[in-house]
Amino acid sequence: MVQEYIEIRGARENNLKDVSLRLPKRKITIFTGVSGSGKSSVVFDTIANEAQRLLFENFSMFIRSFLPRYPQPDADAIENLSMAVLVDQKRLGGGSQSTVGTVTDIASVLRLLFSRIGQPYVGYANAFSFNDPAGMCPECNGLGRKIGIGLEALIDTTKSLNEGAVIAPGLANLERDIYAHSGFFDNDKKIADYTTEELDLLLYSEPRKHTGLPYNTYEGLVYKFNRKFVARDIQTLSPRIRQQVEPFLKLGPCPHCKGARLNQAALSCKVKGYTIADMAAMEVDELLEVVKGITEPEAAPIVRTLTERLQHLVEIGLEYLSLDRPTDTLSGGESQRVKMVKHLNGSLVDVMYIFDEPSIGLHPRDVHRLNELLEKLRDKGNTVIVVEHDPDVIKRADYIVDMGPYAGSEGGKIVYEGDFTGLLQTDTLTGNHLLRKRPLKESFRQATGDLPIVHATVNNLQDVSVNIPTGVLTVITGVAGSGKSSLINEAFLSQHQEAVVIDQSSLSTSSRSNPATYTGIMDDVRKAFAAANNADAGLFSFNSKGACPNCQGLGVTYTDLGFLEGVKLPCEACGGKRFKDEVLAYTLNGKSIADVLNMTVHQALAFLKMKEVQSKLQALSDVGLDYLTLGQPLSTLSGGECQRIKLASELHKRGSIYVMDEPTTGLHLSDIGRLLTIMNRLVDGGNTVIVIEHHLDVIRNADWIIDMGPEGGNKGGMVIFEGTPRELLGAKHSLTSKYL
Ligand code: ADP
Ligand code: ADP
Ligand code: ZN
Ligand code: ZN
Repeated sequence: MVQEYIEIRGARENNLKDVSLRLPKRKITIFTGVSGSGKSSVVFDTIANEAQRLLFENFSMFIRSFLPRYPQPDADAIENLSMAVLVDQKRLGGGSQSTVGTVTDIASVLRLLFSRIGQPYVGYANAFSFNDPAGMCPECNGLGRKIGIGLEALIDTTKSLNEGAVIAPGLANLERDIYAHSGFFDNDKKIADYTTEELDLLLYSEPRKHTGLPYNTYEGLVYKFNRKFVARDIQTLSPRIRQQVEPFLKLGPCPHCKGARLNQAALSCKVKGYTIADMAAMEVDELLEVVKGITEPEAAPIVRTLTERLQHLVEIGLEYLSLDRPTDTLSGGESQRVKMVKHLNGSLVDVMYIFDEPSIGLHPRDVHRLNELLEKLRDKGNTVIVVEHDPDVIKRADYIVDMGPYAGSEGGKIVYEGDFTGLLQTDTLTGNHLLRKRPLKESFRQATGDLPIVHATVNNLQDVSVNIPTGVLTVITGVAGSGKSSLINEAFLSQHQEAVVIDQSSLSTSSRSNPATYTGIMDDVRKAFAAANNADAGLFSFNSKGACPNCQGLGVTYTDLGFLEGVKLPCEACGGKRFKDEVLAYTLNGKSIADVLNMTVHQALAFLKMKEVQSKLQALSDVGLDYLTLGQPLSTLSGGECQRIKLASELHKRGSIYVMDEPTTGLHLSDIGRLLTIMNRLVDGGNTVIVIEHHLDVIRNADWIIDMGPEGGNKGGMVIFEGTPRELLGAKHSLTSKYL
């Protein structure tokens, strides 16, 4: 077959300097280079955006007349694209109805299996679906959880009816009195002394006619409460009643299906002694073994499909998940890998798959599995494009594009194109760093004290008690799913709330926030402009009267497309400058406020000389963010960049405990040295630093290591090693040790 290429000529998005390149189709191409060099500008802003725009062009003229014109990426030509599928780290939403099983389509195959060979036979595959009325538990509508009220909030069992045992909130006095008026009970008997029958009548009785009552029906207290408050949409209650009742309503496992989400018919049907809910609750590798043991000939094709798909989850290192795990509890890296499996299961060909650092969250042991899956996607006839820093992934690419030479305005060029051997021989930041090996530290800091975690059992933790040393750098290691996040982000943080958490979650919900506002630099800049021009500082805020009235200071206008993702266009009034013309006329040393917001951190260091501002800018520079512009909306930053901005603004604290979750995310090999310098500086300044990390350079730089394992899920959850990196080398049972 003739090799085809995706052609890009003269690309100029963001910092790109007339970039031209040819990417081989149906191959794996990796984009690498320092953060800010322009990888995303090529891959997402140019290639993926153009593919999206072309998709729009396929709509009929009629539909397109409702759509804004999708902006064309800034490039002379982009040719020969295929349909693009972005497999990113955005969390999988979808609420509790979306599980690992449903998003990978494995749940539907499992249902087919039960409908074919389940005993006793119950019916079609949809009879096993918790999203289908035929299969869902009627009590909780397939949610597995249900709002209910604790009995203790309805009745005081230490009292009799005459003493006021009925305490249910939200009921009128008359309604509470019914029980004593009914004549069914001994009104002086304490509830605790009731027989089972009496209690049943008091609490659960269905409505029955009763003429001797102020109301002519009698119903059990729980029955009444459920009917009046639980079974109804809480929003329809009066605010006063809602206020009384709401504090007592709790979400708990559904009492009917015990969380299995299915109705009794579905739950009585078994294959190899397991119900479909049992199978969905197993970890994937266990389930795979059970499925392999199914020998009924009529199920053979289903077993084959099921085995293949479960195998994909195992191969990508997610064998510790269960199919019933809600997708909104997965981490970014886990979400990306689950999405990947979904595509491996599908049958699309000639698609352009685009990945953003798929190695995140993977232990070095598991990276080769990722490579195999990327190769599988390619071998199905797809083009695979990956932004990645991990040398073990770069090594396996068919084609490598190295961007640089540096970040921001000093980047935006292709510094190398070709295979891995060629990259090693090139004098680029990537080429040079791939050859360098960081040595193990010679001496390790001594702990100044201990922060204990005691009897931790959250998620898979097996009653873990461990001490985290203070005054040193501790790195938590272990394969994915071994329990690192459970130990630190849940157990440790719930016992030591004073810790400063520096994670990858997004920084702000306001679309007007940017690095300058987040770090407080903007306040000083506004004051400087006001002083230099003898004007009101408020003018220079794009939240206030100086803002462009057309875009309210956003610089862009949004068009909501309803059924499609909305589109954002530069504001026509200010051209993206965000301020009114009269505000833009004021200058500070020849620059307008918009010019200043357009400066990179690097440029601003040379321009804004105020002492406070200098130290904040320097902190941003220290964490490798020289290339960020001060006015770039925080909503456009990646998870790794968000984490580094948080780090920069927390650096000045002393005597603190810092917790970081994979801070190397998004960092090029050459930036990791800087990150290590910052961590060391924090520790030398008297702080305690705790880092969850897979990167071997960070592990080598630790003073203390806590290795979790031995494997993921219920085969993990234990501390398998504690000690210095040097001692870890001797720990034969540790997988991390092998890779060090
Ligand atoms: P990489 O993916 O290699 O980290 P990017 O392509 O994201 O680099 O960024 C290249 C340059 O373009 C950087 O200077 C970055 O700050 C700038 N940039 C990226 N996205 C935007 C944006 N939405 N608005 C303004 N500048 C941006
Ligand atoms: P690591 O951080 O080492 O990758 P985690 O602490 O995230 O490991 O996960 C440990 C185990 O706990 C895994 O089996 C994982 O599936 C499970 N787990 C993690 N978070 C949740 C959750 N929110 N609900 C249920 N199980 C969870
Ligand atoms: Zn239920
Ligand atoms: Zn505007």
